[in-house]
Amino acid sequence: MHATIDIDLDAAGRQSGSLSLPALLPDGEERRITTPIHCLAQGEGPTLVLTAGVHGDEYEGPIALAELARGLDPGSIRGRIIILPRVNAPACDAGVRSTPIDGLNLNRAFPGRADGPFTSRLAHVIETELYARADYAADFHCGGAILHFLPSTLFVVTGDEQEDRRRLDLARGFGARHCMLFGAKTMGVEVSIDAAMLRQDVIGISGEFGGSAEVTPAAMDLCRTGLKRLLGHLGITPPQAPSEPIEPQLVDVRPDECYVLAEMEGLFEPLVQLGDDIAAGALVGRLHRHDREPLPVRARTGGVVMARRSLARSATGDWLYIIGRPVASL
Ligand SMILES: [Zn+2]
Repeated sequence: MHATIDIDLDAAGRQSGSLSLPALLPDGEERRITTPIHCLAQGEGPTLVLTAGVHGDEYEGPIALAELARGLDPGSIRGRIIILPRVNAPACDAGVRSTPIDGLNLNRAFPGRADGPFTSRLAHVIETELYARADYAADFHCGGAILHFLPSTLFVVTGDEQEDRRRLDLARGFGARHCMLFGAKTMGVEVSIDAAMLRQDVIGISGEFGGSAEVTPAAMDLCRTGLKRLLGHLGITPPQAPSEPIEPQLVDVRPDECYVLAEMEGLFEPLVQLGDDIAAGALVGRLHRHDREPLPVRARTGGVVMARRSLARSATGDWLYIIGRPVASL
C-alpha cells in the first residue's frame, strides 16, 4: 500500500481531495489515514505549497488555510497553490503535537521513508510529491499548548547570500513585524520541514503565530492578511493593499544564549511580556517552590522576548523564554 493523492496536482481549476497513507495502528490493524488537499491552478505562474497542522495542537494555520482553500477563486490566480490545512490529520484530530499512531514528531521526521512508520511516510510524501513541484512554500506553526510566540515569520539562513535574500523577500511579502533567523540546527531544523524545503530547492518560510493552545484575533489577523499579501507579492493574485513589503525586524535565535531554561522544577512566574526589549542578565521570571525562596530567572542575552512558556508547572530544562537578538541585516 502506497501513498495516494486523489486529485491531479498538474491540472487546472479548483480541486479538493485527499492525501491518503497506510498506517499500522497500535492494535495491529492497518488502515488508510486521509487528510484534505486542495489545488488551485490557472495559467503560467509559480507553484506555492501551503501547509499547517504539522503539529496538531496549533490552530491558527489550519483555520486560515482552510478559509483560503474555500474562498479563493481559481479564476483570479496565475500559477498554482497547493494547500494542506491539516497535514498531520491524526495529530490534528487529537489536538496533540506528535502523531498519536507512532509517537513521532512530523517536524523531526524529514526526509522520511516510503516504507517507514506513518509519520515518516507522511514526511516522505510531502518532500517528494509536494515540494518537488514547488517554487515557494510557507508552513504555519505556533507554540502549541506549552509556548506562546510573538507572531512572526522565520527562515533558515544557509549562508548562500542570494538564496537567503529570496527567503527574506518572502518574509517581507508576508509582512509580519518580526522574522526569526534559524540556523541549520536551530530547534531540530536538520530533520524538519524547513530542511525538506532546502533539499528540494524551494524558497520557503515558516511562521510562529501564537500558541497556548488558543486562537487570538491578532494571530488570526496576521495569518489572513499575510496570506493575501504573500499571494499578491508572488504575483499569484493581483497585488493586495497594502502592497508595499513590510521590512521585518530580524531577530537571531541561533545562539544557545537565546534559550532561557528552567534550572529546577517549579511554578513559573513570568515577569516580562512578548515583544519586550530586555537586557542581558535582566530578571525575567521566578521559579517557585513551597519549600524555599523563589529561584530568579535571568535572560542570558539581551533582545526581544519572542516566546514564553504558557504553563506555570515547569520541569528542569523546560524552555521558559526564547529571546531574539535584533540584527540590522542578514
Ligand atoms: Zn509547530
